[in-house]
Amino acid sequence: MTISHSILQQLTTSIRAGYSCFYLHTAETARAEFILQEVANKLEFNVMEYNLAQGKIRFANKELQKENNGRIEQSLNELFDEDLEKQIILIKNAKLALENNPVAIARLQHLIEKIERHYSGECAVVLQAAEVYIPADLEPFISLIELPLPQNEQIKTLVTQHFPHIDNAILSIVATALSGLNENEIQKLLVLIKQRFNEQLNTQNEGEVLAEIQRQKEQIIAKSGVLEMVKVNEKLEDIGGLENLKKWLKDQHQVLSHLDEALEFGVKAPKGALIAGMPGCGKSLTAKATASLFQQPLLRLDIGSLLGKYVGESETNMRRALAMAESISPCVLWVDELEKAFVGMTGNNASEVSSRLLGYFLTWLQEKSKPVFILATANDITALPPELLRKGRFDEIFYVGFPNQVERKKILEIHLKKAKQKAESFDLNELARLCRDYAGADIENAVYESVKSAFLSPEKTLSTEKLKQAIKNTIPLRKTLKDKVGEYEKKFDELYLTPASINDGLSIAQMVKMAKDPNYLERKKVSEHEDVTEDILADLVKDKELEVRKAAFSNPNCPTKLLDEQISLKTDNALYHKEILEILVKHSNVSFPLAIRICKNNDNYIDELVKNADLSLEENQQALMENEYTQKILAKQERIHLSLQPKLIAKSSLVINQELAKNRYLSQDNYQKLIEFNNESVQITMAKY
Ligand code: ATP
Repeated sequence: MTISHSILQQLTTSIRAGYSCFYLHTAETARAEFILQEVANKLEFNVMEYNLAQGKIRFANKELQKENNGRIEQSLNELFDEDLEKQIILIKNAKLALENNPVAIARLQHLIEKIERHYSGECAVVLQAAEVYIPADLEPFISLIELPLPQNEQIKTLVTQHFPHIDNAILSIVATALSGLNENEIQKLLVLIKQRFNEQLNTQNEGEVLAEIQRQKEQIIAKSGVLEMVKVNEKLEDIGGLENLKKWLKDQHQVLSHLDEALEFGVKAPKGALIAGMPGCGKSLTAKATASLFQQPLLRLDIGSLLGKYVGESETNMRRALAMAESISPCVLWVDELEKAFVGMTGNNASEVSSRLLGYFLTWLQEKSKPVFILATANDITALPPELLRKGRFDEIFYVGFPNQVERKKILEIHLKKAKQKAESFDLNELARLCRDYAGADIENAVYESVKSAFLSPEKTLSTEKLKQAIKNTIPLRKTLKDKVGEYEKKFDELYLTPASINDGLSIAQMVKMAKDPNYLERKKVSEHEDVTEDILADLVKDKELEVRKAAFSNPNCPTKLLDEQISLKTDNALYHKEILEILVKHSNVSFPLAIRICKNNDNYIDELVKNADLSLEENQQALMENEYTQKILAKQERIHLSLQPKLIAKSSLVINQELAKNRYLSQDNYQKLIEFNNESVQITMAKY
């Protein structure tokens, strides 16, 4: 059995100083007992042991002294009559015994108060359990004590107990591999190795033993609930855009691969980065791709799961998680949703916990000696404390925004390829334009939906049209998280974080600001920008300056909704303008049926509208039934929808029927009707065609 001298010291001096109650947080009962025995020896005390299962136990030989029928409060009651001088009262299963047991809690409090009054420095209660549970009433009396993980020398002692003839070099390697585990876990693992490898541990089976330790360790990590080993398939090439961030990661990889040389040269060992920004834009993907790039295991730390209810619990969890990560190093430690440690915390105690947690994390980040590369990710940068965002804490703080046009194109390409499609056979420029305001996750979603619908369709092929439909059907995260997104973008701009993407001009936050600039030329610049968002455009199309409004409506990305609202304006409306109407009729996003109805008396406008419209669609053909001019346009179409053919013939117009007579795709019935129209020139044309 190994012992930590600092714990021994801490306990003995605290008891002497009059501290009356300790919570020994450990699952290692044997080790806890061993330590208490040592403390008792030093202080010349006795240990009185109680557990929930039986009652009072003789500490030395575990003989039952007094049954309590599973009621710890009974044992506590009996303790009031005992002489407590020079006693350590060990209560095992403390959590099980005290939780939901107000009588036991009250009696324990009473007992502690009695000790403080009459036996100060002469008696102490030690509660022991694998999980921390400290009732609020007892909090002021209790000091939480953590059994530290065994250090390298202690681990070596344990290994040599099992393998006395082990070679020194192998001993060092095995001890390092076992670090991060508690004594219990190490003992069990060593017994298992002994059995599996016939009590042998030498150069011949060293590799196998280490692999076994690693396997077992992964299981222990999974069980700990605070860390997870993530299986990684993603590569840097799977990330569309984020070129700055990718370049930085490649540089870090270069340094890490030649670390000794780099340190010698004067380069500091890379610590890691914080990647903050929009949901669904590739932060987690980057963490995974980094582990692939570095060819190191990826450990995911869920901050939310660290947070315990009790004083000290969160730090303990954090300490254990970081120690485990160090023991697995070199590795990439992905601290997911970092802001969770700091949001939703109210009350003094809570903020104290998060600031202590932050303090511990920052110190570790500063002082860590093992090669653990941190990638912390966060959505809500507004929730992160400023000291975390200060330069120097992390090597870099990147901001990931919504992808720009070039990035969206790349993301489409990546996901089309993943879905076994030929990316080059689609109009990626047009599709990327349609995905404006979409996160990478939205684009991925749209691609997979369209591929599914292609699979279910009779023709079993994916078309640009199907992709467009799937994109239209996707409600982007930007819409569902509208308010949050605005907040993040503003904060990002204020903090001057490093953009993960190569900045092709303006960030969204800059555009938001410029859209309110008193100088109309600035507002015009935003109106013309390829990546301007719908929200910003919605303001700019109502700008007081005509030039700005014209620019906003001329933007190829101006959405249908805004165009349709404008085209519907009456001429007496303050925002109506003929020059804008001329822009609208040329815009491919305007609703064709609506625009035809509104512009029906202006043949020039109709001609413009027809240039951009998809006249194969039934609704657009239906719109052309508006008047004789538009009917003539419809009659010239090759494929006229069956429902519209008889309606056109029924107009009994010679010019229309002349056009229809040239059509090879009318139905039999409709040819018959044309003949019945009984016009010679129509019949001659029919005969010709
Ligand atoms: P959250 O904060 O919500 O966890 P996140 O930024 O971590 O979001 P990811 O989990 O990385 O987002 O992205 C979700 C999915 O969207 C990824 O698995 C990936 O398929 C796709 N995706 C997001 N961004 C990109 C990108 N830049 N390139 C390729 N795919 C992307």
